[in-house]
Amino acid sequence: MKNITYQSTRGGESGVSASQAILKGIAADGGLFMPSEIPQLDRPLRELAGMTYQEQAYEVMKLFLTDFTEEELRDCIDKAYDSKFDNPEIAPLVHVGVAYVMELFHGNTIAFKDMALSILPRLMTVAAKKNHEDKEIVILTATSGDTGKAALAGFADVPGTRIIVFYPKGGVSHIQELQMVTQKGDNTAVIAIHGNFDDAQTGVKKIFADKEYEKKLAEGGFRLSSANSINIGRLIPQIVYYVHAYAELLGSGSIEDGEEINFVVPTGNFGNILAGYFAKLMGVPVKTLFCASNDNKVLYDFFTTGTYDKNRDFVLTMSPSMDILVSSNLERLIYLSTGCDARATAGLMLQLARTGRYTVTKEMQMRMKDFAGGYATEEQDAEVIRYQYRKRGYVMDTHTGVAAAVWKAHWEETGDQTKTVIVSTASPYKFSKSVLEAIQGPMMLTDDFAIAQELENLSHVPVPKAVTDLKTAEIRHTAECDKSDMEAAVSRVLGI
Ligand SMILES: *Cc1c(COP(=O)(O)O)cnc(C)c1O
Repeated sequence: MKNITYQSTRGGESGVSASQAILKGIAADGGLFMPSEIPQLDRPLRELAGMTYQEQAYEVMKLFLTDFTEEELRDCIDKAYDSKFDNPEIAPLVHVGVAYVMELFHGNTIAFKDMALSILPRLMTVAAKKNHEDKEIVILTATSGDTGKAALAGFADVPGTRIIVFYPKGGVSHIQELQMVTQKGDNTAVIAIHGNFDDAQTGVKKIFADKEYEKKLAEGGFRLSSANSINIGRLIPQIVYYVHAYAELLGSGSIEDGEEINFVVPTGNFGNILAGYFAKLMGVPVKTLFCASNDNKVLYDFFTTGTYDKNRDFVLTMSPSMDILVSSNLERLIYLSTGCDARATAGLMLQLARTGRYTVTKEMQMRMKDFAGGYATEEQDAEVIRYQYRKRGYVMDTHTGVAAAVWKAHWEETGDQTKTVIVSTASPYKFSKSVLEAIQGPMMLTDDFAIAQELENLSHVPVPKAVTDLKTAEIRHTAECDKSDMEAAVSRVLGI
């Protein structure tokens, strides 16, 4: 197999092994790691169609993580994609109307972040061993709700790691808070800060940048690391389900070998959809990747005009995981569309940091023609959720609704007959209230468990264990701290 190394999109680092790139997370120059080349699938898709999700995962990931042994990689995969998932297919495809819905919400926290965060901790501990890292890895995360829980669940009781999550007190939903404060695992810590999400994020960044503190941690036997979505160890596992979707459709006779299909992806940080693009570059026949945004439609404007401009009002929507104005993973597509020109990429990113905007060249736009931008308003999102429920009895969450609305508008306008997969990123039970209101209109219920029960009555899909368990779960984390006191809080957790 061809050895793949990693380089920064901004040119400051190259020749980095896969395991080092996973440990580092972000390059020293602030750039993102990219593989030296995109490997091609070395088995025909027809053959992959006969494999389990775990076997497919190995066939994809082995091509990128070339300094992992077969045994190491298979072990990581088997421990990640096991009975934690409440569906043995891991990422099942459901035929709904004219499209297929790929459900990525069958893991621990009933949202798609589980697809990568179930395996990242395993990859990290192998990477640490490989690089003779003798210190314990400490994952620090600031969360506005979803990522924190998925990271906690992924790292809980993984040997050689600790995880500390900060969330804004009063700034996450009741269910999200319950999910975090009931997290099991001796290596987990959850701390509520007196401040908002930005304060939590800024505090975490400060700790990462504090060289003195890094020394103190090292003396205590710890090394900080990050699990955020720019880590290549999160991107690579996400390629798997795009290959899986194609193989499934081929295996069931829904498409011919070589037939091109579309994917529609509810997008925030641009990590999920970028993995779909990698799958295409590896040889999966993909026609168009529809990048679906909510009212924060920076990416829609970017794909239609060539100008990225974050200077606009931030809108709070019912698809909060897509309320983002700076999509960090877009930098990787920018890099590819410059023809891997690190200097040009760094220049654009500098403009973004200084002015909040940049414009790409016509040639770069041409190279991005596999993407199409679309967006849905709150009204369109609710409308499509209601429509799918009434017409097909299928209940989708508010993020998936954005993608479904974008596809519906495109389909009605063009009559596009291309077989299409709508990527579903969360269970409707993660956003029960908004989903129920989309279907039935405003309601009086305020108790989250009563709302979930109501949704079960409607959809006939049982409330997932991830939600019912919360009712009786023991509260294990009660620590709080001031926003200026986060470093000390970390020290208390680690006992240094
Ligand atoms: C994180 C998230 C997204 C956005 O995914 P990106 O990879 O950041 O584009 C969409 N939907 C849900 C439910 C999410 O949690």
